[in-house]
Amino acid sequence: MGFEYAPAPESRSIVDIKASYGLFIDGEFVDGRGSSFKTINPATEETLAEVAEASDADVDLAVKAARRAFRGWSRMSGKERAKYLFRIARIIQERGRELAVLESIDNGKPIKESRDVDVPVVAAHFFYYAGWADKLEYAGLGPNPQPLGVAGQVIPWNFPLLMLAWKVAPALACGNTVVLKPAETTPLTALLFAEICQQADLPPGVVNIVTGAGGTGQAVVSHPDVDKVAFTGSTAVGKAIARAIAGTDKKATLELGGKAANIVFDDAAIDQAIEGIVGGIFFNQGHVCCAGSRLLVQESVADEVLARLKRRMGTLRVGDPLDKNTDIGAINSAEQLGRIRELSEIGVAEGAERWAPACDLPSSGFWFPPTIFTGVTQAHRIAREEVFGPVLSVLTFRTPAEAVEKANNTPYGLSAGVWTEKGSRILHMASQLRAGVVWANTFNKFDPTSPFGGYKESGYGREGGRQGLAAYLKGADA
Ligand code: NAD
Repeated sequence: MGFEYAPAPESRSIVDIKASYGLFIDGEFVDGRGSSFKTINPATEETLAEVAEASDADVDLAVKAARRAFRGWSRMSGKERAKYLFRIARIIQERGRELAVLESIDNGKPIKESRDVDVPVVAAHFFYYAGWADKLEYAGLGPNPQPLGVAGQVIPWNFPLLMLAWKVAPALACGNTVVLKPAETTPLTALLFAEICQQADLPPGVVNIVTGAGGTGQAVVSHPDVDKVAFTGSTAVGKAIARAIAGTDKKATLELGGKAANIVFDDAAIDQAIEGIVGGIFFNQGHVCCAGSRLLVQESVADEVLARLKRRMGTLRVGDPLDKNTDIGAINSAEQLGRIRELSEIGVAEGAERWAPACDLPSSGFWFPPTIFTGVTQAHRIAREEVFGPVLSVLTFRTPAEAVEKANNTPYGLSAGVWTEKGSRILHMASQLRAGVVWANTFNKFDPTSPFGGYKESGYGREGGRQGLAAYLKGADA
C-alpha cells in the first residue's frame, strides 16, 4: 500500500479556450465553408470548443495558400528560415505551460507527461531542425538540396503537438510549406500552434491548419497540388492513403502502428526493467505506436518479474490528467475505450488470464485500469493486434533465439526493447530484431537527432535526425 497523495492539480486558468475555432489559412483564422464538430475533454466529457470541419473547398484554399507561400519560402536563404524556426522554438518554450495544460485537457494525458515530455521534445524538434536549415548541403543528401513543394500532413491524437512538430519542423527547414490536419479529437494545440506562427511573424501560407475528420484528411492527401504526403496513424488508413496516391508522383512517408516486444533476460537489472516495462506500456495510457505492448520475459525470472510488476502497478495513480501526481490519465475517446475493452474481452475469451490492480476510476470520462494478460500465446489476438491502450501481454522464452523469433513474429516492426547486463547480447539482439528502433535498458526515449520509423506494416520513411530531412527534399534518400 502506498501513501495517499493530496490532490495537486495544475491550474487550467493559464489556457484560454475559445467557444469556437475556424481554420488557419494564409496566416489568418477564417470560417470554414463546411460544418463543425465538438472537441471534448476525455476526462470529464465536457465540451471544450466547436471546431470547423474543413470541406474540400477549404482544403483547396489552404493548398493554394501554401503554394503561393512556397515561392518566397523556398527561395529564402536557409539562414533566414532558421530564424523563424528558432523563434517558434523559443515561443513554444515560453508558452510551454499553456501548451502542456491544453494538451492534457484535450487529449487526457497526464500533465507530468505533457509538461516533461511532449512540450520539451516539441521545442527540441524545432531547435534541432532550425539548426539544419542553413546546412542542408552538408547533410549528405546531394550538393544542392531542393524542397518538394507543398506537404500535406495528417496526424493522430496520441501526441498531437509532438506529431505536428515531427512533421512541420523538418518540412519548413527544407523550404517546403505545409497544410496540416490534426486528429478530430485533439485539434486544440495545433490551433494554438497556429497562433504561435502568427506571433513568430511566419509569412502567411507557410503553415496552414485545417481541422476535420477522415474526409478532410482524404482531401488533403489526395489534393492534386500536394507534392508530399506525410501521415502518422493507423495501418488501415495508411494503406488507404497509399492506394489513394498510387500512380501519382507524390512522395510519401507513412508512420503506422506497432506491437513492440520488450525483452527481459534473466541477467537484467530487474528493478530497472520493471520501470522500463511500466513506462513502455503505461506511458500515455499505452496510446503509443512504439509501446512495449508484448513483454517477453525469460522463463527463469518470469515469476519474479511478474510479482514485482504487479506490486509496481499497484502504486500507479489513475485519474485527473491535470493532477501532477497522476501516472495514467484518461483514454482519449469513447471509441478508443470501446476498442480496448473489446480486445481485452477477446483476450479473456481466448483463454489468457487478466489482472489489474484495484483502482477507483472516476465516474465520468473514459478510463481503463493498467492491465496485464498472462498465459498469452503468439496466436492470441492481444499478442498480435495493436490494443493502443494500457494493456500488456506477457509471454515467456527460454533462449535468445526463441526471443528473437517471438519478437519478430508480428506484422509490425516499429520498435523493441532489450534488458540485459551483457553488451554483446544487446548488439546481437539489435542486429536480429526487425524493428526501426531498438532500445537497450531503456524504453520510449525520443530525441530529435535520432531517426524513427518502421518496417513491414509499421510503414516507411524516417522522421527525425538527418534522415528526416530526406523525406522533404527532392531526390534524397536517407
Ligand atoms: P487513424 O488512422 O484513425 O487517424 C489518423 C489521422 O488520419 C487522423 O487525423 C484522421 O482524421 C485521419 N484520417 C482518417 N481516415 C483518413 C483517410 N481516409 N484519409 C486521410 N486521413 C484520414 O489513427 P488514430 O486512431 O488517430 O491513431 C492511432 C494510430 O496511429 C495507431 O495505430 C498508432 O500506432 C498510430 N501511430 C503511429 C505513430 C508512428 O510514428 N508510427 C505515431 C503515433 C500513432
